[in-house]
Amino acid sequence: MREVLMDNKAYADIFDATLQKWGIEAQYDQAIEECAELIAALKHFKRGKVTESEIIDELADVILMTQQLVFMLGEDRVDSAITRKVEKLRLLLHAR
Ligand SMILES: [Mg+2]
Repeated sequence: MREVLMDNKAYADIFDATLQKWGIEAQYDQAIEECAELIAALKHFKRGKVTESEIIDELADVILMTQQLVFMLGEDRVDSAITRKVEKLRLLLHAR
């Protein structure tokens, strides 16, 4: 499962085809829409109005769209940013 979440190469052909068919702007719009749907679902989940499985569905949409954005912006650049942010978090966790 971890490989599915982390290996962008597994879906590179799908991400490229999506980009060719609908374009860059549509991908940004779709990412925004999916993030908004997850936000709404989480708010509803806190009030017991949606199930955990609905959260998982919305989370899957967001993960796919973030992977699409990683494909578009460059895996190496995003990977560097993640490394930098994890290091910052590590410092914060050990700060006194
Ligand atoms: Mg969705």
